[in-house]
Amino acid sequence: MRTERAQMEDRPDIVAVMVGIAVEGPYSYRVPPGMAVARGSIVAVPLGPRLIQGVVWGPPKDVVAHSRLRDIAHAYDVPQLSEELLKLVEWVAKYTLAAPGQVLRAVLRSTEALDAPKPVVAYRRTGREPEKLTPARLRVLDALMDDLAWPKSALIGATGVSPSVIDGLERAGAVEKLEMPPPPVVLPPDPDTDIATLSEAQQQALAQITALDPHQFGVALLDGVTGGGKTEVFFEAVADTLRAGRQALILLPEIALTNTFISRFTKRFGTKPAEWHSDMTPLQRARVWRGVLDGTVRAVVGARSALFLPFRELGMLVLDEEHDGAYKQADGITYHARDMAVVRAHLSNARVILSSATPSVETRNNANVGRYAHVLLTSRFAEASMPNITAIDMRIDGPEKGQWIAPLLAREVFAALDRGEQALLFLNRRGYAPLTLCKSCGHQYQCPDCSAWMVEHRFRGVLMCHHCGHEVRTPKVCEKCGDTESLTAVGPGIERIAEEAAARFPDAKRVILSSDMGSNAQLRERFSEIERGEFDLIIGTQLVSKGHHFEKLSVVGVLDADLGLAHGDPRAAEKTFQILTQVAGRAGRASKTGKAFLQTYHPDHAVMKAMVSGDREAFYAHELMAREAGGLPPFGRLAALIVSANEHDAAMNFAKKLLSAAPMADGVRLFGPADAPVAMVRGRHRVRLLAQSGKDFDLSGYVRFWLGSAEKVTGNLRVQVDIDPMSFM
Ligand code: ADP
Ligand code: ZN
Repeated sequence: MRTERAQMEDRPDIVAVMVGIAVEGPYSYRVPPGMAVARGSIVAVPLGPRLIQGVVWGPPKDVVAHSRLRDIAHAYDVPQLSEELLKLVEWVAKYTLAAPGQVLRAVLRSTEALDAPKPVVAYRRTGREPEKLTPARLRVLDALMDDLAWPKSALIGATGVSPSVIDGLERAGAVEKLEMPPPPVVLPPDPDTDIATLSEAQQQALAQITALDPHQFGVALLDGVTGGGKTEVFFEAVADTLRAGRQALILLPEIALTNTFISRFTKRFGTKPAEWHSDMTPLQRARVWRGVLDGTVRAVVGARSALFLPFRELGMLVLDEEHDGAYKQADGITYHARDMAVVRAHLSNARVILSSATPSVETRNNANVGRYAHVLLTSRFAEASMPNITAIDMRIDGPEKGQWIAPLLAREVFAALDRGEQALLFLNRRGYAPLTLCKSCGHQYQCPDCSAWMVEHRFRGVLMCHHCGHEVRTPKVCEKCGDTESLTAVGPGIERIAEEAAARFPDAKRVILSSDMGSNAQLRERFSEIERGEFDLIIGTQLVSKGHHFEKLSVVGVLDADLGLAHGDPRAAEKTFQILTQVAGRAGRASKTGKAFLQTYHPDHAVMKAMVSGDREAFYAHELMAREAGGLPPFGRLAALIVSANEHDAAMNFAKKLLSAAPMADGVRLFGPADAPVAMVRGRHRVRLLAQSGKDFDLSGYVRFWLGSAEKVTGNLRVQVDIDPMSFM
């Protein structure tokens, strides 16, 4: 087969350009004389009245009269995108049913990055003395005695003079102005800076990873208990990749909150990693993006979107906490970063490390059947041991009415505080109370636009919908019956736990951590303070469950271990097991033995039993069996179709029509239409269809064919497709 590049040589003056907007395929453009482009070249093309960025995709797909085509406006002076990245765009589009242009937009994330970087203005001594010498001028000339060119900002910083002093020296001929290329956004990491002395178990784990051929695709599941030293192991694997001259990407689920990880990287590699996440300025983004493309950036630590950075020499991808739900993008392109990382590695002949103390059931299965190398770290590093886990049966040993902390847990928290250690109270629910109820008339405060209760946030004095963000001031009078003094808060949120903790442990230095307690920068600061031991009692949501290493923390209390189990979500058991293991794993990470307490009404549930006995294997075996019996992932495939509309009937009727238009296919089962568990969001009624198939069936292709042959949506109707849904709201 002739390559697309070869075909382009036949008609070099017409090419197909994929633009970074949600369109199905590339458009044809003329290459003006004197411009040289190839597949992967980044260009600007006219589209309607505007100029838009795109990428040369190959030879034109259709024959269009030359005279009707428009010219490529501009070819950027940057390296071409790699073949594997273009293939990734096509793959993700095909799999998730997104338009390829929409996926390409995830690649072209920085417009500024494509323009030549602005040079830095610098000054150098000429050797000529100015006629007039002021103290300020002298300071500048002294600084320049090294005969090097100093960037203007550095010179001002070092001497404290005003810019006019430097301008004056230039006019007097004593200094000359130069333009220098800007310094790299980060220095190249040095794989040999601070090589860890690995324990015996860690060395074995590393050897298993480095045994994977560095020039071939390969995946290792680094399956190790919390605090097992996984990070140290994958840092060494990253070092191995850097030594081999290839780039490395480390993905983290909550990068905006992790100071510690960045400083550990900096210590290990002698320089900060390039970062990639939503908290960056456009200029930082531009510099990192360009550095990744031109190869000056060798290692990136980023959020899931870093998967689409334009690496050209990618040799290793690491996903820390690979089970984490944050890797699934829920809107726009609904991709799962773990699965797409494996695809990208496959296209780039790179290695992947999936690291977790609680691997996803999918990944565990891949390791069980030998598709992934299974690398185990079964004990904690050094003297630290695994926490002791106890279930507190709330039916028998629960607290008094109106309280949420069971007596046993309260005693253990006291004891930890007495010993000068830290304790953590965990509840995965923001706000003060999930429901406000009128005791007189029974009225429940609901969001007008969503089928959800309004959650009271007492700290801010509002009721708030967690689906759409709608807020009202906390009412004093029931809006239905007008009664005063009749509104009550039902159930606890994290703020209510904090209130009880304040009453019970008044002398403890307490901190509340949840995502609405401040900006990312403020939260990062809180985490550092906790690490330094500045608080005794931490009260937090799932924010605190991830990756943090609090040395003094010895007692963890989970106030509602059953919280995730209630929904009709096939992943409920897995998610609950993961979050409980992660939270419990915060305890006793240094030398003290930690204790974790799970407050539950279902102490006999398989998840609670696995937690208490510490028998992870039993949990995975049980869960895999249940999934296999139900034909659920990883033994089958799922795709969700959410039909939404302003009117419930419109959504339901359209979903019924969709169902009747579904093509027959062996082994595909369709469920629904039924109201989605959250039946209304932002005023839109949601009806769900679910398609289930065997593992080896192309369910994406089936859904594409289905939607392509069904009636098109009109008006305010919308159909959203979620291949491999992770949440079932
Ligand atoms: P995990 O990533 O498995 O949760 P970490 O890599 O964070 O575990 O290790 C837990 C703690 O043990 C960290 O404080 C880390 O610095 C320390 N540690 C792990 N391995 C080593 C090692 N080889 N040398 C020194 N300290 C280590
Ligand atoms: Zn709402």
